[in-house]
Amino acid sequence: MSEGKPARLKTFQFPCREDNYGVVLHDPESGLAISIDAPEEEPIIDVLEAKRIKLTHILTTHHHGDHVAANESLKAAYGCEIIGPADERDRIPGIDRVAGHGDSLELNGHRIEVIGTPGHTLGHVAYYFPDQGMVFAADSLFALGCGRIFEGDGPMMHMALQRLAALPDATKVYAGHEYTLANARFAVTIDPENDALLARAKEIELLRDEGTPTLPTTIELEKKTNPFLRAADPAIREHLGMTGATDAEVFTEIRARKDRF
Ligand SMILES: [Zn+2]
Repeated sequence: MSEGKPARLKTFQFPCREDNYGVVLHDPESGLAISIDAPEEEPIIDVLEAKRIKLTHILTTHHHGDHVAANESLKAAYGCEIIGPADERDRIPGIDRVAGHGDSLELNGHRIEVIGTPGHTLGHVAYYFPDQGMVFAADSLFALGCGRIFEGDGPMMHMALQRLAALPDATKVYAGHEYTLANARFAVTIDPENDALLARAKEIELLRDEGTPTLPTTIELEKKTNPFLRAADPAIREHLGMTGATDAEVFTEIRARKDRF
């Protein structure tokens, strides 16, 4: 490939808090070291020290405490720059720079596209690394699920997830929480005839029995099995008795059922 192609980022995903995931990305050549959100100080510092990495950036997805808890302590320890959603700038501790939908960032030669994914919170953003084929969706898109709608509404969240679904199929999706087992148990109630989903649900039971992470997932796998990306699917619409509804209406109904599940 061309000489300008950036190095592959080393990716370290680790569990923290109750059911969060932290992720550290590292380019040893340029020294770029990014924490995707900062859920908890100690596990992040453990990874950084074990790999001898000096943190240079935190990319914040949204203002919830379990995503920003370690912003200020990591900034004090490493002097890292904190980039976060423009629409939540007043609620992101230590924020240095804002990012909004459609922005393109360049950090040490690595391109990052900011995708507005509102609904869970109004300013929620995802960070897409096109050269790495990775997106960090935090609490917007989960494996077999999506974030609870705290600040937006159904059509807004549906639009946000459609932006993510439009990424290339092979894109790896990292999310903020290990909720996949509960999501799978719900998903089969919405899409009970989907063989790909049924097979995946079984596989997830086994993975979680051994404590293996179910993330990252891919856009392709989510489009085939995640009911929140499948509002247009004829079998789901039939099952819900919503054949004449809009995709956003079907999505909103699925989200409401999940809230009651
Ligand atoms: Zn959240």
